[in-house]
Amino acid sequence: MANALSIDQASAEISALKQQLSEYDYHYYVLDAPLVSDNEYDGVYRALIALESAYPELVSPDSPSQRVGGSASSAFDSVQHRQAMLSLNNAFADHELIAFDKRITETLDNSQVEYAVEPKFDGLAITLTYEYGLFVQGATRGDGYTGENVTHNLRTIRAIPMRLKSDKPPALLEVRGEVLMLKRDFERLNQTQEKLGSKLFANPRNAAAGSLRQLDPRITATRPLHFFAYGLGETMGAPSIQSHSQAMQYLADLHFPVSDLRDVKHGVSGLLEYYKSIGEQRSSLPFDIDGVVYKVNAFDQQNTLGFVSRAPRWAIAHKFPAEEATTIVEDITVQVGRTGAITPVARLKPVFVGGVTVTNATLHNEDELRRKDIYIGDTVVVRRAGDVIPEVVHLDVTTIANLERMAQKSAQNVIDAINKSKQTTLARFIYALGIRNVGEATAKDLAKHFGRLDTLMTATTDQLLQVNDVGPIVAEAILQFFAEPHNVEVMQSMRRQGVTWPEHDGKQANTGALNNQTFVLTGTLPTMSRDAAKSLIEAAGGKVSGSVSKKTHYVVAGADAGSKLENAQKLGVSVLDEAGLIALLAEHANSQPEVSLSETEEETHVATNIVNVESDDEITISTHDFMNNNPQKTLFQED
Ligand code: NAD
Repeated sequence: MANALSIDQASAEISALKQQLSEYDYHYYVLDAPLVSDNEYDGVYRALIALESAYPELVSPDSPSQRVGGSASSAFDSVQHRQAMLSLNNAFADHELIAFDKRITETLDNSQVEYAVEPKFDGLAITLTYEYGLFVQGATRGDGYTGENVTHNLRTIRAIPMRLKSDKPPALLEVRGEVLMLKRDFERLNQTQEKLGSKLFANPRNAAAGSLRQLDPRITATRPLHFFAYGLGETMGAPSIQSHSQAMQYLADLHFPVSDLRDVKHGVSGLLEYYKSIGEQRSSLPFDIDGVVYKVNAFDQQNTLGFVSRAPRWAIAHKFPAEEATTIVEDITVQVGRTGAITPVARLKPVFVGGVTVTNATLHNEDELRRKDIYIGDTVVVRRAGDVIPEVVHLDVTTIANLERMAQKSAQNVIDAINKSKQTTLARFIYALGIRNVGEATAKDLAKHFGRLDTLMTATTDQLLQVNDVGPIVAEAILQFFAEPHNVEVMQSMRRQGVTWPEHDGKQANTGALNNQTFVLTGTLPTMSRDAAKSLIEAAGGKVSGSVSKKTHYVVAGADAGSKLENAQKLGVSVLDEAGLIALLAEHANSQPEVSLSETEEETHVATNIVNVESDDEITISTHDFMNNNPQKTLFQED
């Protein structure tokens, strides 16, 4: 293919591929948010290598084939590596491995070279510096020569020793290795992220990189990261070590985590045997690996072989088939199992993934189908690990770039525009819901009056009727809309996808019975939890503050009240006990002539106002029937 091009065409093609790869690199290494799967990236990279081999005169120093992919972000201090942190050349097919071994045996004039073999961890490379046995600095690989100083973050990883296990630690020891996240921890992290409505990570590698490259080490400390050592950098005063396998044993003795799967093999047959054995264990390992690495074992032989621009000549990564690939959903059908269970199945455009061609993938169940929001015609990421049934992992959002006539830049513009449109206002969001009879002006009035979506969603007919322009027909349409579970699910899903808007307490609260009066709660009230008291005060339009000042209207004090009560007495602020608070709330409720709720409606009113209380499973509130001033005890069960 390559030779059929003129030199100008080849040059244009190479520069387009370089541009494409550099965009992918930026998203992968700097933003920790890849635009395409590794499989796809490797395909583009190999197209570049094929062209550069056919036209060596077009190889330039800025080509991804000549440099290590990442670059150090300016958000971190930079660290100059004492010894370069290089990448690895890759072999995908057996013949590429045979060629690697041939080059080595010929250069070394040795027919049976000894190789140290180990898994290729799918995380991110770091270097750790120890001086006289103490951990002093840690950095990412960056562009191979300059990395990012992530010392504080690395200190939060339990698997990394802060002090070496040695009576005579070397003056200097640099340890190279990989930070990664265990598969189990990745699943849990994404479940938590989903609950919080935060960004989901594409895979454990991106989760590890995103967690390590945090500016705030407290965030890194909450992320379960792991580490494996796989090599040495510069050393001073370390024992004499002659080979990679000896180095790994030395690191193990110093209490670094090193892989139990490491071994020593001879010749191509030994390497292939190892590749097969690790491949069989791959899906059951607790962490992701994307291949195995073969390293010429003897250090003197490594020195003879040396380096090419971006990788050592003495090592190669033998990659496993990708476990994830993108394809198109051509149809969605259902399978009925023996027990009657119904499983939706995606019929896919055939795709090679996990070493086989996949045409169907499970969507598990209807809830999962809705959660992943998958439709016929969507581009999806399919995963097949080991013998596991292929599954659709998620919709491929980074997809837009593959549309016909959509260049990378325009795709990025579309993505930016989508992200920008997620920042909206409550009024626009309500309008966009398409509730019958709710036009732009009514949406604005509703947003102004309620201030928060949750308050609008739980509003009663009477509360809705207080809004400008809302009559019984509109109020009924709003109630019906929010009573429909599917509508609520769609709104929740939009919030999870990052649609946000500013919220406030609403006109309702400001014009409420207590009209912005400020309360401070202190001590233990006899029957009411603090959260319940706060909810009741806020529901009546009051505010609850944490400290007492001259501007405080009331301090509500219970048993064992502390300095807040003393301050209130000093400043002459009115002090109420629980009964006094209840009486005040009742008094204000009675002074609201337009509110005339029946007993049942009153309960609903209070109940909706405690929906946000999260602390207790059961909340006991001693309330009044405000209208009749008739104290009663009501038990609300949080659902
Ligand atoms: P690489 O990941 O193929 O290999 C080099 C790295 O392997 C080392 O830096 C080290 O971190 C790691 N490694 C793991 N185990 C090791 C071991 N036992 N010994 C030595 N090193 C070990 O190369 P790379 O330059 O880091 O990344 C290139 C690859 O990253 C590409 O082939 C592609 O799959 C992926 N990538 C993907 C995208 C994307 O957008 N999806 C973008 C850039 C790169």
